Parts: sequence; structure tokens; C-alpha cells
Amino acid sequence: MNYVSTRGKAPVLGFDDVLLAGLARDGGLYVPEAWPAFSPGDMRDFGRLSYPELAVRVMAPFMGGRADGLEAIVAEAYRNFDHADVAPLKELAPGEWLLELFHGPTLAFKDHSLQFMGPLFDRVLGERGERITVIGATSGDTGSAAIEACRDRDSIEIFILHPEGRVSEFQRRQMTTVPSANVHNIAIEGTFDDCQGLVKAMFNDPAFRHRHKLAAFNSINWVRIMAQIVYYFRAATLLGAPDSRVAFAVPTGNFGNVFAAYAAHRMGLPISQLVVGSNRNDILTRFFRTGRMETGAVHPTISPSMDIQVSSNFERLLFELLDRDHARIAALMEGFSDSGGLRVSAGPLARARELFDGKSFDDDQTRATIKAVYEETGRLIDPHTAVGVAAGRALKRDPGSPMVFVATAHAAKFGDAVEAAAGVRPRPPARLDGLMEREERCRVLANDLAKVQGFITGRLAERVAA
Ligand SMILES: *Cc1c(COP(=O)(O)O)cnc(C)c1O
Repeated sequence: MNYVSTRGKAPVLGFDDVLLAGLARDGGLYVPEAWPAFSPGDMRDFGRLSYPELAVRVMAPFMGGRADGLEAIVAEAYRNFDHADVAPLKELAPGEWLLELFHGPTLAFKDHSLQFMGPLFDRVLGERGERITVIGATSGDTGSAAIEACRDRDSIEIFILHPEGRVSEFQRRQMTTVPSANVHNIAIEGTFDDCQGLVKAMFNDPAFRHRHKLAAFNSINWVRIMAQIVYYFRAATLLGAPDSRVAFAVPTGNFGNVFAAYAAHRMGLPISQLVVGSNRNDILTRFFRTGRMETGAVHPTISPSMDIQVSSNFERLLFELLDRDHARIAALMEGFSDSGGLRVSAGPLARARELFDGKSFDDDQTRATIKAVYEETGRLIDPHTAVGVAAGRALKRDPGSPMVFVATAHAAKFGDAVEAAAGVRPRPPARLDGLMEREERCRVLANDLAKVQGFITGRLAERVAA
């Protein structure tokens, strides 16, 4: 399988190079040249497979000649999940299901893609005899998921910058207590924006970037979408696909997770409806209402992983809605980056609305949903999941299709917000026992590019010498 950029001006790449490239050189996003498709017969088989077996079946067509050895990579990716079903599906109420995606090491769905990317990077870098340095900034969540994906990997060193004193103790400890020698935490005396500014400046320093082979584990990498397609096939085939249809409600920020559901639909999965839930940052849900996309200020909410104004993966959906017209996408996206706005015409908007609906909920509504679900079912859901549940319940079209709410984080990860809403504190899973006592490793540095670069260069030299 080859991959093309949505904007059409970057080289066509094979699977390994798409993994390493992340963003395309023309500013676009890589997408498969064609969607592989499964027949109803294939999907009837899927219901009989284990989760790792299904993952191999669903992902192999995207990997072409690189699918050999996929069984071992998949086994490695899912061995750190603490539930035998990897992504268990639980009944919430008649016709309503929760797809639990939080059984990985950092308790959020991003582990599904990042745990898979770690071994893939190791394989290709090992074969090519290369090493990379992953550098990232985090306001709390993505840092630990990237660290868990990269820890103990021979070909990767990872440096994560977080703002000192501005991430929760729980989040900080998830990063700083990882005992692996290739993991380096830096606390910056500054804000998250300062951390991001430093990371950007390091990527924009060509000598530094080339010398240390900098890489990012960001949300636009195609391989992250690919690994997320698996659980949509899993849930739908357990609920009767291909012989009946299923609806999904997905709490959405960068549009990666719900785009994976769209991809499953393109591959033949009978999805009746995709409901997009957003918090007050509602750029996406406004798009599905009006066909216009306009950025605005970012509002902090109790579902912080969705506090974004530009949904980077949305370009992949636009590309499909506009019949893969590279030139139009390039023009639209360049206009969007200049003016902060874009609009699509009635035809493509109508096509999007055949499948998608969207609605936004503020923090009070989110808390009310957490409370209502707890009172009805005894289950505690996290604020991101609650946004999806609220949207799915408000917008469900077909009373005959089961509605699957995608549970993107464990309630204990956002314990304060959940306790404030439901009056009960969620219990963290056993794997986190002792987190508060484990030894931390972290270097505090001033918000100073030269100091941070000096520290990274020094650490890398020590690691090569070791
Ligand atoms: C990242 C994240 C989301 C948003 O997912 P996208 O793929 O960016 O749309 C939702 N919930 C949680 C808990 C997240 O970490």
C-alpha cells in the first residue's frame, strides 16, 4: 500500500516512510492511496477472533509487504493492557454500550495507537541502523502516553518538557517515575506555551534537528489512525455487523479517533451514524451545522484533551468529502491558515451529514451527564466520555441501531472533576498502586533554549558513551 499527501505535492511513500515522516513535506497529511475493503463474509469471521488476531486482519492491508511479523508487533503492543479483551464492550442500558479504550498503561485511548507505534519504530530504525530523538511538550496527558510508548526502546531517546508545577502530581508522576534510561523528563520554569515554544525552536534549528535526528510522536501520524480502526470493527462485529448497523458517539478534539471510525465505514463496516461530541471548543460541531470552519480562542474545560481550536485530522475528512481533489484541499487549507476560516459547498456538506452529527456541551452539562450515568447505572465515566454520551443520547437517529459510546479515558484519570460531578471518587486501577511513592527522575531547567539544548546534547552524549 502506498500513501499520498492530501495536498498532492509531497512524494508518494510506502508504509515505513509514512511512519517516520508524520506530516507530509507539502504540509498535508498522508492517507492510503485506496481504502481496503472487507466483505460481509470477512466480517462474520471477525467476531470469532481475539482482539490481537483481529488487529492483524484489519491492519495488514494497510501495511502491504511490511505486514510480515505483524503478529509479534501486535502482541507486544497489547501486552501492556490490563484487560484480556484489550477494548472491552460493556452494556450501559438497553441499546447503549460503552467501548472502554482506557485499559492501557496511561489510562486513555491514545495508548491504543502509541503502544503500537513504539515497536514499529523500533523495527524500522533497527533495520536501517538509525536512532532518533523524540522531543515533545505536554500539558499533562500526551507526555506520559509517548513515554510509555518509547521506554526501553534501543533506537529511541525521548525528552518530554512539562511546565514545572503546572501539571497535576498524578500526571507528573506518570512521567517521572518511569525508570528507563532512555526516558528524560524536563520541567521548565514557565508555562505550557513556553514548553511548546522551546520544542518548536529546536525543530526549527536545522543543525540541532539533523545532529540528533529529532522526531515527533504527533497526532497526525497515519499509523495512529490505523491502529484505532481496529476497535470500531471489534465493537460493531460483536453487536451484529455486518448483518446489522451500529452507531458510534465519539468525544472529539483533533478528529483522529472519529476519523478512524469513518475509515472503518469506508472499509465496509455498516455504521449508521457517527456522533461527534465537543466541549465548549466547538469548531467541529459548528462545521457540521453550517459547513463553515472558523477558529477562535481556546477555552479551558474539564475535558482538557479536547481543548483545541484546530482539528488537525479534519483535513483527511475534507479530502474525502471533496473527492480527493488535492488542489482544492491545498487551496482551502492555505486559506484557512491565512484567515482562520474555510467553507465547503452544499454538496459535500450534505454528504458529510449523511453520516455525521455533532453537538457541543459545556462543563455544567458534562457534569450533569456524569451524575446521571452514575445514578442510572452505577458507573463512573470521565468528562471526555461524558461529552460523547451526552451527544450520542441527544442526537441518536435510528432507534433500532445500538449506540456505542467511546470511553476515551478512565474516570480516575480525571478524579477531581468526576468526584465533583458524581459525589464519588473513582478508584484508580491496581497498576497505579504505589505511584505516589515511586522515585521520580526529572531535571528542572530555566525557560532558556540554549540551556535546554545543552542539557539534551549532554544527555545524548552520556547515553552513547554508556
Ligand atoms: C485525545 C483525547 C480525545 C480527543 O481525541 P481526538 O482523536 O483528538 O479527537 C478525547 N478524549 C481523551 C481522553 C483524549 O485523551
